[in-house]
Amino acid sequence: MNIAIVGAQWGDEGKGKIVDLLTPHFSIVARYQGGHNAGHTVFTEGRRIVLHLLPSGILHPEVDCVVGNGVVVDPQALFAEIEMLRSHGIEVGNRLLISEKAHLILPYHRELELLAEARRGEHRIGTTSRGIGPAYEDKVGRRGVRVCDLYDPDGLAEGVRENVEARNRLIADAGLDWRAVYDALLAAGERMRPWVGDVTLFLTRAFSVGRSALFEGAQGTLLDIDHGTYPFVTSSSASVGGVCTGLGLGPRAVHGVLGIAKAYTTRVGEGPLPTEVHGAEADRLRETGQEFGASTGRPRRCGWYDAVAVRYAARVNGLDALAVTKLDVLDGLPQVPLCTGYRCGGDVIADFPADLRQLAACKPVLDTMPGWSAPTRGARRYGDLPQEARDYIERLEEISGVPVSIISTGSDRDDTIVREDSVAARWLARFPIPPYSAPRT
Ligand code: GDP
Repeated sequence: MNIAIVGAQWGDEGKGKIVDLLTPHFSIVARYQGGHNAGHTVFTEGRRIVLHLLPSGILHPEVDCVVGNGVVVDPQALFAEIEMLRSHGIEVGNRLLISEKAHLILPYHRELELLAEARRGEHRIGTTSRGIGPAYEDKVGRRGVRVCDLYDPDGLAEGVRENVEARNRLIADAGLDWRAVYDALLAAGERMRPWVGDVTLFLTRAFSVGRSALFEGAQGTLLDIDHGTYPFVTSSSASVGGVCTGLGLGPRAVHGVLGIAKAYTTRVGEGPLPTEVHGAEADRLRETGQEFGASTGRPRRCGWYDAVAVRYAARVNGLDALAVTKLDVLDGLPQVPLCTGYRCGGDVIADFPADLRQLAACKPVLDTMPGWSAPTRGARRYGDLPQEARDYIERLEEISGVPVSIISTGSDRDDTIVREDSVAARWLARFPIPPYSAPRT
């Protein structure tokens, strides 16, 4: 049984912690989209480890990790992450498989992104400036360089020369020497070689011998290139459709979909955020929730829980259940608002609009729930939550139209409630932590 984990909001929902929590029940964790712009923070054995490119399953020594064709790979970022893990005593060894079809982020993609953002001026998107967007542009423009090209020196030389010459026409400087880029890529290819292979074949064979996978999404549904608040989106398919295209699997390989949503809402960068709050209310959420980007350190915009957005994410992804994170951040608030619909002009709408001008003009319809004074922080059983916090979760569940299976009450792996008899509890019961370390097929 394979489960996909997707962000049900604008990213940073705490997917890293939930993936880390569920990973011991699976023997493979696979990433299917994005690049090293993701910032999954995991606290384990008192250490804070932020993973940008590798699946967070890499922290578990018995788990194989896959980077699918839908991911764009910056070889230097990959090596830096492998070294960072080594400094924590974690060896990647032969537990990593990178798709030979994944596209590469080339050294000048970052400067192209900075240039594009500067040209957009006040209409900038607020990207992480890691070259991810330009790498996806090259992929769709059919001039990208793929991992398998690293092992075809003549083809690589031709591709890199054409790309660097195009870059040199765009950027007025002394010009980049394509040979330097080429040599660096050849060297990177050699270093990556042990980890490169056919991901679809690996996964299909693994499933046929009973192994199970967790598909780890990065960013969130509202940042998806197709389904998000375009153009203020990421460049990849961050919703569940990305699993099939980004790993080369059929839809029947996904047996369950868990959406991750914060108990409130945040967003990094530009674009509409209907439940956004400002001033002291925003500062309170930002400081208590430590809402600063894991990749960029940028302060995140904060707002109340938006059930219109999550209902939309539930439809786009076919969510079976929700994991609600950061409930503890709301501890001590006298009242907690929840957005049930949007007021647009004279109408109240229940569905997320595609037109950004319409979305920007929407005002949230807020339902205010009583807060709770006893802390939820660190609670590990549903019954340990104050009554008002349980009422909040149950109202959130009702207006989102998806059952809440998991509640996170702190950043530690153990500060988590898996509700008894919930969808996720049933998944996990079917997949007890495997006693064996399955060999790679
Ligand atoms: P991701 O990109 O979706 O994995 O999210 P991030 O890792 O960027 O953001 C989640 C942050 O919130 C991390 O620092 C987590 O350690 C932290 N976190 C996750 N769950 C909880 C929770 O329930 N409570 C609190 N206080 N922090 C949490």
